[in-house]
Amino acid sequence: MSATALTLAGAATPAQATPAHAAPAPGGPGAGDTYYPDYGNSGYDVGHYDIRLRYTPATDRLTGTTTILATATQDLSRFNLDFLLDVSSIYVNNRPATFAREGDHELVVTPARTIAGGGAMTVVVQYSGVPSTEVAAGFTAWTRTADGAVAVGEPEIAWWWYPSNDHPTDKATFDVSVAVPTGVEAISNGTMPRPPVQESLGWTRWSWRSLKPQATYLTFLTVGQYDVTQDTTADGTPVYNAYSQLLTPELREAAQVSVERTAEITDWESTLFGPWPFEARGGVVTPPGTLGFALENQTRPNFASSFFRRGANTSVVVHENAHQWFGDSVSVAEWKNIWLNEGFASYAEWLWSEKNDEGSAQDLFDYLYARYPADAPIWTTAPADPGTDRLFGDAVYSRGAMTLHQLRVAVGDDTFLEILRTWTAEHRYGNGTTEQFTALAEKLSGQDLDALFQAWLFTPAKPVLAAATKLTRPAMPRSWPEISQTHELLHKH
Ligand SMILES: [Zn+2]
Repeated sequence: MSATALTLAGAATPAQATPAHAAPAPGGPGAGDTYYPDYGNSGYDVGHYDIRLRYTPATDRLTGTTTILATATQDLSRFNLDFLLDVSSIYVNNRPATFAREGDHELVVTPARTIAGGGAMTVVVQYSGVPSTEVAAGFTAWTRTADGAVAVGEPEIAWWWYPSNDHPTDKATFDVSVAVPTGVEAISNGTMPRPPVQESLGWTRWSWRSLKPQATYLTFLTVGQYDVTQDTTADGTPVYNAYSQLLTPELREAAQVSVERTAEITDWESTLFGPWPFEARGGVVTPPGTLGFALENQTRPNFASSFFRRGANTSVVVHENAHQWFGDSVSVAEWKNIWLNEGFASYAEWLWSEKNDEGSAQDLFDYLYARYPADAPIWTTAPADPGTDRLFGDAVYSRGAMTLHQLRVAVGDDTFLEILRTWTAEHRYGNGTTEQFTALAEKLSGQDLDALFQAWLFTPAKPVLAAATKLTRPAMPRSWPEISQTHELLHKH
């Protein structure tokens, strides 16, 4: 039902215009996240974002119009968006709306007419600003570069460039189109519905489209001088890779020999985790000094160039692409579930090491278990509830991977892979919780795994291993230097 239909019905028969239900109420300023109560909002559900921008690298000036197609989930008198830039106008269902700022990043929108629960909402927000000057949550997630900008971050990034319902529980499809000075590249997720077009003298518009549900933080914009390569995989999936022209020749080569293996690596990952969930693949390597980490942006991760400073690094390509299943297709229901992303992506690196005879997952487990003393943060933090300060800490990544290894040892390889594939199939394009995962593992294995998960996920202490299974001086697996370098950087979110 559309809002227009409602209005017409109301005009014809005024007595029926107001059904017998509670008075319209404001939507809430949060999505119910324990760690980040004011991230996301309640009262509506977004289906699609159309983000249409113009960006000038020399001044970092961003102007734009974002059109949001949403459905009210209650009778709505007003609602919130999460956004920082200066708003000049908002239309809701064809009429100007009033709006105000609240708190750190809330934009409170009051439509001219209330929206009926289940009714359609078209929200058009016009805005402009200099994103690098905006501070929220104590920092600026938008990164200016010598030749452009990088909008890549977790959990915070959307606020700096488009208004949204900023929580992974409200996924949507996206169109991102950006006009930049001709000669500059603008890269985002998914595929290009049309090649870059000369829009006006000196300006070229780049268009990108995400066809599958995508979380707001996984939507990215990278602008600058890039070499963009375009190809297709054996199954016809488009591959777009982009390399900053500011990379030194050595970094460029090391990045290329790693990122150009994305199709091979994701083919291998799909033999383990299930079919590739999205419509495109690829990777973006940003200029030196831009990012301190890599992020699993949907269809196309962004990598800091520092991952490649010692040469090829396939472990980070394995990690970010494993996230396409664990994090992007199956997203956290709450940020405290972050080990469901990072533990799984880290374990994919162990499986890659095992496949390449550079150390088995058991070797890596033994090495890590012996490496950290009982008072190290990896043991004193419970992966299933790390807190916001350690959201990207060792416990979430390495102990998360160790947890999965203990599960694999307990249930056997076949059941372990069945658990992973059932997880990615049952929660595809949705969300998952730790409790749902542990319940699935118990169901498919037919085992009581309470003690295992209690010790490895929920207890802030070093789990005890049977003496017979514990090595005192395990050798360093050959993959460890690369994996540890990757993780050192990944923790710098
Ligand atoms: Zn990760």
